[in-house]
Amino acid sequence: MIDIVAGVDIGGTNTVTGFVTSDGEVIAEGRLSTADYAFAEDFVDALSAKIKEMLHGRDDLNIRGIGIGAPNANFHKGTIELAPNLRWKGIVPLGDMIASATGLKVRLTNDANAAALGEMLFGAAMGVKDFIILTLGTGLGSGIVVDGEVVYGHTGFAGELGHLTVVSGGRVCGCGRRGCLETYASATGLVRTVMQLLGDRREESILRDMKSSEITSRRVAEAAAAGDIIAAEALDQTSRMIALGIANSVVFSSPEKIFLFGGLAQAGDALFVPVRKYTDELVQPVFKGTFSILPSGLPEARAAVLGASALIWKEIK
Ligand SMILES: [Zn+2]
Repeated sequence: MIDIVAGVDIGGTNTVTGFVTSDGEVIAEGRLSTADYAFAEDFVDALSAKIKEMLHGRDDLNIRGIGIGAPNANFHKGTIELAPNLRWKGIVPLGDMIASATGLKVRLTNDANAAALGEMLFGAAMGVKDFIILTLGTGLGSGIVVDGEVVYGHTGFAGELGHLTVVSGGRVCGCGRRGCLETYASATGLVRTVMQLLGDRREESILRDMKSSEITSRRVAEAAAAGDIIAAEALDQTSRMIALGIANSVVFSSPEKIFLFGGLAQAGDALFVPVRKYTDELVQPVFKGTFSILPSGLPEARAAVLGASALIWKEIK
């Protein structure tokens, strides 16, 4: 028998389920549309059916549980709470619902905490007890690990570094406040910075010919590499904001390593070199040189499913 865990990544549009072995191999994968289900009850039925279908004819598999990464998931309660990108409103006890539909152990956490667990069990954080992962996608998610445990806090929602205030009275954030880190240090934040620079400055830029919807972090990185001044400035300002977020975060938990993950991190050295330089300038002197800033060790396409499965694997191991 092969022991496996179902790692489930619930996104606003799609849900991906993967069967993950104890060494982080994904041996089967299935998808369903999250957006098709207006009610969580129907989604739970569809997900249970999908898992059953994936198990069909595989008498060699022994499923140990279901780990779920989802927006606004509360690890303590197994609930999804007030998720703006999901159709299910209010507080949904998804963990209990899936457990009673499948008879399996179910654990839930948010995407970034799942990414942290995935990094710890299967990625570049193996053996690292204190680290932070920043996921630089549409927003900025984060998972903070202290002494080998993800920090959830009293409410279950601790460690949202994307909502550290980095500019008092700054850009409007989806959380209802202003100047949050993720409004600057994310793929979306980078595009906002590009738009602002295009308005404020007069230099030629290939980004001027694009619609705002066509400007992606990859295109900005490519333009910067090709010598585009506006793109380079936007990347530089974004790097400085990421560095400021890191410098502030290091004060809380003194990590050994900080991992950058997600679309923006794909910019590679164009991002990592200035982020390291600015972090060194901005961090409190006592922490200087005590931590490293590295790319994630997980493959982008598999990271969410691996991370979700790690919720259960961590308990078993
Ligand atoms: Zn915010």
